[in-house]
Amino acid sequence: MRVLITGAAGFLGSHLCDRFLDEGHQVVGMDNFITGNPNNISHLRGRRGFHFVEHDVTQYIYVEGSLDGVLHFASPASPIDYLEQPIPTLKVGSLGTHKALGLAKARKARFLLASTSEVYGDPQVHPQPESYWGHVNPVGPRGVYDEAKRFAEAMTMAYHRYHGVETRIVRIFNTYGPRMRPRDGRVVSNFIVQALRGDPLSIYGDGTQTRSFTYVDDLIEGIYRLFHSGRAEPTNLGNPGEFTVRQLAEAVLQLTGSVSELRMLPLPEDDPKVRQPDISIARQVLGWEPNVDLSEGLQRTILYFRQLLERQGAAARTL
Ligand code: NAD
Ligand code: UDP
Repeated sequence: MRVLITGAAGFLGSHLCDRFLDEGHQVVGMDNFITGNPNNISHLRGRRGFHFVEHDVTQYIYVEGSLDGVLHFASPASPIDYLEQPIPTLKVGSLGTHKALGLAKARKARFLLASTSEVYGDPQVHPQPESYWGHVNPVGPRGVYDEAKRFAEAMTMAYHRYHGVETRIVRIFNTYGPRMRPRDGRVVSNFIVQALRGDPLSIYGDGTQTRSFTYVDDLIEGIYRLFHSGRAEPTNLGNPGEFTVRQLAEAVLQLTGSVSELRMLPLPEDDPKVRQPDISIARQVLGWEPNVDLSEGLQRTILYFRQLLERQGAAARTL
């Protein structure tokens, strides 16, 4: 197959490029680097079957050659990013999804949308099954991300129903792992980097809010299976293991051996109080479930950040 992956220079997009290439497919990666990092794909430059195009997907997308798949991952994904870039976030979820779907339709390619557990907002049903319609504040600060993704899902289903495009929608729950940026702003990377630097761990609110953290390799496996399945309806992918933010902080301190203290900071507006995926459908339809538990995933991610910070420190010392 030859597939287009938008958001290829991001955390998840870059891992997805690796996976498709490793399976022997050809990949066109596309990104405008608004939150991506060229280093995430530097190992792919020159690799057989990989081609990169720098482009903003809210503008007409042109790709030379045939395409069998379009995987739309472009979008700021960390709350600090989409709060800083509210309008580009709304545009990539709406205009960008429209362009990517139009391309898939024109090339008779299969389309996969990277959606999110944020479509459930601050959920009143727990854990969250795909049938839950969610509890989102459309005009709150997080609305720019949540509503863009909800629109993107509606647009995807409309192209499926009206134009007959073969589509997939993955609702991704909090995923972490190597290639997150040290300043990404999401909780796992924040805590690990703070612990390794000996800085206080920033707990927003009282730390009793919960999240369910998925290691990146598990997620990519699920996405690869979903892409090749016949399921058009939204599918949750996430690790059902649910932890409070305080438990996460304690796990990071223990695994890094850090003596950093915990610092309480104000809770961001509309921060969901709980989140846990119901993955019955992924289990049944894809035969998928996560294999990497929090402790193992954190150890792999800590190793990545330890090496990255050492390299950055060494580079700074040679200046
Ligand atoms: P990321 O910020 O690391 O990657 C997003 C990439 O999209 C970046 O490289 C960015 O430069 C690119 N991009 C943004 N707007 C673009 C545009 N207009 N044109 C071209 N490229 C553009 O984030 P991520 O964690 O890798 O997330 C990837 C996708 O997965 C996003 O769509 C996100 O909403 C979704 N998702 C991620 C998570 C998670 O936990 N990581 C959870 C739910 C959903
Ligand atoms: N959080 C925190 N400290 C941080 C970053 C995040 O306590 O330094 C909290 C945040 O308020 C939320 C949870 O951790 O309750 C997960 O935040 P993240 O930004 O990773 O993802 P999301 O809120 O989108 O689930």
